[in-house]
Amino acid sequence: MHCPFCGTPDTRVVDSRLLAEGDKVRRRRECLRCNARFTTYEVAELLMPPVVKRDGRREPFQEEKLRTGLMRALEKRPVSAERIDDIILRVKNHIRASGERELSSQQIGEWVMIELRQVDPVAYVRFASVYRSFEDVNAFREEVERLQQSPGVTNSA
Ligand SMILES: [Zn+2]
Repeated sequence: MHCPFCGTPDTRVVDSRLLAEGDKVRRRRECLRCNARFTTYEVAELLMPPVVKRDGRREPFQEEKLRTGLMRALEKRPVSAERIDDIILRVKNHIRASGERELSSQQIGEWVMIELRQVDPVAYVRFASVYRSFEDVNAFREEVERLQQSPGVTNSA
């Protein structure tokens, strides 16, 4: 994205959000040369950015993989298939809106956790325990306790 003021191609995304229709992204950008700030309305890329795994390897974003992880966390939990689809959609919207050229699997995991936390606390803890790979039992217990102290988290992102 070229700066409309000085023409340099080096601009940085400051803020990024998906518009309600879901196919356009409003981005605040900052020029790295003249520091001008401007807003762009961009068509959301249909292609998802590649995912950088913990070991540094990149792989294409795979919706099925996300779904499998969610299903595992939600096993035997009272959450409908529609709700799962909804979580996946919201996570994908986060990914698209980010404007990043690549995303860490950790970042995507955090977005999944934000969604899961509002949908089902048990699934959230299950997912978090796998994703954050809690280093020891204490860390896991702390997370559970933290969760119990803040019941009814209902704010939507
Ligand atoms: Zn500029």
